[in-house]
Amino acid sequence: VFDEGQEIIQRKREYRGVFIYCEHENGCIKDVSLELICKGREIANQLGEELSVIVIGHKIDNIAIELTYYDVNKVIKVDNSLLETFNEYLYVDVLEQIINVFNPQIVLIGATKYGMALAPGVATRLKTGLTADCTELEIENETGLLLQTRPAFGGNLLARIICPIHRPQMATVRPGIFMPANKEFERKGFIEEVPVIINKSEKVEIVERVAKESICSSNAEIIIGIGKGIGKPENIPMVKKLANKLGAELGATRAVIDAGWMDCSYQIGQTGRVVSPKIYIALGISGAVQHTAGIISSNTIIAINRDKDAPIFKIASIGIVGDVMEILNLLLDEI
Ligand code: FAD
Repeated sequence: VFDEGQEIIQRKREYRGVFIYCEHENGCIKDVSLELICKGREIANQLGEELSVIVIGHKIDNIAIELTYYDVNKVIKVDNSLLETFNEYLYVDVLEQIINVFNPQIVLIGATKYGMALAPGVATRLKTGLTADCTELEIENETGLLLQTRPAFGGNLLARIICPIHRPQMATVRPGIFMPANKEFERKGFIEEVPVIINKSEKVEIVERVAKESICSSNAEIIIGIGKGIGKPENIPMVKKLANKLGAELGATRAVIDAGWMDCSYQIGQTGRVVSPKIYIALGISGAVQHTAGIISSNTIIAINRDKDAPIFKIASIGIVGDVMEILNLLLDEI
């Protein structure tokens, strides 16, 4: 134990600072990055170290300047035309190089589609560990290690993970968990441009960017929430038919997202979107608190579930007990 302890201390001397990877799109910093800045600042203060933000892309001067208005010590920028569109091969290369220049002791990345593509590649290159999809981060008092908490076994347990030997300690963090950082225009942070070697990727070429179909917006008047109870993804077109008839938008539970039936942008709930439509129609949704947290301010909740004791009925204004696809067929005939 003592030897291991000494090892930790030696390694901590070489690795310093908390680094956040900043995600941005169409000139806007993503919310998850602002949430990471807020949490990263808290962690850096506890450790008595600096907080830096890494931003990668092309024509990102405005984003780098905007980042200096947040409570960060340094903005590290890599701007190159080859980095205009996210390409995980190039971005992994660049992030690895930056980390090798600065030797941070902690690196935090959003657990988004991009972050989940980037972080494992970087961690593998650096031969360090990665805790994916964290929902809590703390500094352990005695050791100064990053205590990383994530749901495990389908959310039934919370696993607390540390990375005692290898550095940096790396985690991806679920969006929507932490408070976003505040912007103050009087702050004048420091931007450092870092030269890195960028080779055109031979594996992937971005040919075109196509905007994806509209996702559930938080201010729709009618939203139909799809739960695991619809049985299979092949039933989703039927739900879309009903949505078209009602002029409604679609949402989904996390169980549906995790099953890969729908894109994660449709997720409603504690770790998804919060919606407050006039009518929320819950199809085959059990009514777990993590889901109802996102729909509770809807005017009217109509729930269809075959289990009369399903928790969703406790908050529903209208409840229909029965097979969801049978009732969906009846509704399509009737409307
Ligand atoms: P299930 O729990 O599987 O329920 C399916 C329901 O369908 C059941 O009630 C069943 O009776 C009914 N059913 C089955 N067949 C039929 C049928 N033929 N006809 C009618 N009814 C039928 N979940 C979210 O939704 N959003 C979140 O943001 C979210 N965040 C989370 C964060 C954390 C940290 C954790 C641990 C969990 C989170 N969850 C979230 C997951 C949540 O706890 C539930 O697991 C999830 O909401 C369940 O989704 P579901 O109701 O679709 O599936």
